[in-house]
Amino acid sequence: MAHGKSQFCVWRCTKCNKVLKTTAYNKQNKETIATELKMFCNSCREQVPAKRKDAKKSS
Ligand SMILES: [Zn+2]
Repeated sequence: MAHGKSQFCVWRCTKCNKVLKTTAYNKQNKETIATELKMFCNSCREQVPAKRKDAKKSS
């Protein structure tokens, strides 16, 4: 099963830099995906802005 069109990305807390979430999205919809989202950080124990960073392919 190849997921060639899926781009993996990690969401990091902008306060403590901890990875909050890892997601995958379709590259073709790259325009529609946000680069910053409000998420709950368990380390900061509050809603924080999380920044998306695309993961590199590991193959
Ligand atoms: Zn945090």
